[in-house]
Amino acid sequence: MITGASSGIGAGVAKALSAAGAKVVINYSSNPEKAEKILAEIKAAGGDGMAIKADVSNEQEVLDMFAQTLKKYGTLDILVNNAGLQKDAKFHNMTLAEWNHVIGINLTGQFLCSREAIKEFMRRGIVPERSKSAGKIICMSSVHEVIPWAGHANYSASKGGVMMLMKSIAQEYAPLKIRVNSIGPGAIRTPINHGAWQTPEAYNQLLKLIPAKRIGEVEDIGGAAVWLASDDSEYVNGITLFVDGGMLLYPGFEDNG
Ligand code: BGC
Repeated sequence: MITGASSGIGAGVAKALSAAGAKVVINYSSNPEKAEKILAEIKAAGGDGMAIKADVSNEQEVLDMFAQTLKKYGTLDILVNNAGLQKDAKFHNMTLAEWNHVIGINLTGQFLCSREAIKEFMRRGIVPERSKSAGKIICMSSVHEVIPWAGHANYSASKGGVMMLMKSIAQEYAPLKIRVNSIGPGAIRTPINHGAWQTPEAYNQLLKLIPAKRIGEVEDIGGAAVWLASDDSEYVNGITLFVDGGMLLYPGFEDNG
């Protein structure tokens, strides 16, 4: 199950997991056409799955999505908590609605989906022919779980929260062989940050923050997700795997300081 999978990183991760053999639940919040298009592309490539509408910040809708998933597939092996958004504002102008919306989707949504996934992983336990783990959760975080971000306090606070949510549940369920990790993307070419790569001027500004001197693509994240979901990473638990072209390397110090 990949939340927020009708576009951007979520769609890329769904395609990568499907190519690696998973049946995929494409969760979306508002646009069935986009979700069905991603599902059609997945099926055309030989994959299988279904699209389910649910607002991840709404408890009942999350419960219904899990019920539908278990009814169709019998169980769930991998949850990718990907749904996320930005509602940017100068902090002194930020409304409570902008704050609550971002925390609701980015953090509370990850809580609700993780809780339901963990319940199913505990009920089912390990199926040795499928995986050495009883279940895997991958939380989509951001470099902004550690890099402060002026003008985006709601977003960076939500990602800081995701980091401790991920680590706390990883610690709590590691004895049951449930693995919980995060991916921390840097700037990836998706609709959420189109302003940062749309024009040559914006793109050149952005490259100053990226030692690798290119923006990331959703395929960069898809590969990381497949690895974290597979037994190749069986001994990896409670980490954030940053996929950021070196954005966390303090690029401002490259020729300064
Ligand atoms: C944000 C993007 C931003 C990137 C790097 C992501 O978490 O959603 O808008 O480009 O971080 O700053």
